Amino acid sequence: SDGSDGSSDMQIVAGTAPGFEPFEMTRDGELVGFDIDLLEAVVDETEYELAEWNEYEFDSLIPALENGNIDVIAAAMTITEDRQQSIAFTEPYYSANQSVLVQSGGDFAPEALEDLEDREVGAQSGTTGETVVQEQLIAEGLISDDQYTSYDNYVYAVQELERGLLDAIVIDEPVGATFADNRDVEVAFTFETGEEYGFGVQQDADDLEAALSEGIAAVRESGEYDEITQTWFDS
Ligand code: GLN
Repeated sequence: SDGSDGSSDMQIVAGTAPGFEPFEMTRDGELVGFDIDLLEAVVDETEYELAEWNEYEFDSLIPALENGNIDVIAAAMTITEDRQQSIAFTEPYYSANQSVLVQSGGDFAPEALEDLEDREVGAQSGTTGETVVQEQLIAEGLISDDQYTSYDNYVYAVQELERGLLDAIVIDEPVGATFADNRDVEVAFTFETGEEYGFGVQQDADDLEAALSEGIAAVRESGEYDEITQTWFDS
């Protein structure tokens, strides 16, 4: 379409999963955060137009993209080979590692994954934190299946950790640090996973992927990337 009817195929719909501060969250009823500002700035560099944001649980984002309900995922999503079987990613826009959260002021102070042996552990469904639990705790025999609880959203996991119903949560380090600032939990330790976040697109959306990747480079170049980082990380 030429766009004159207002329904140009250059319009794209973004999907995200709030509750992952400071990347995406709801404040005063409004969707805000690093990913929100960054994707909007990136799309501004392209011929595309961001028509709306739809909100999902994290583990529903890839199905929503595959179904065509959304065109792009902006949800601090790590680029993984597993996900690349079903979707494509832009160039990376943020680097992160994992952390382990525990209750503040408690006497449990793990320093490494081995110290989580026989503990109650939580993570958010479909995340790389959950993969760490499955591959490095359950598969290694450190905890049983029953000792792992998978949550739709990390917000619920943090609530249970505060109440002492969980011993530890595995979560992306920047988000774990933000929960530690705002809630009665603390980062016990971090461990390197070398994850890189990308915006997710459909596997055949080559033009959109290229445009967004160029847009990411442009906002890095213009200084806008640094401004957005300062807004959400240094305040
Ligand atoms: N970066 C992690 C992942 O991709 C967590 C993302 C999230 O929970 N929003 O799985």
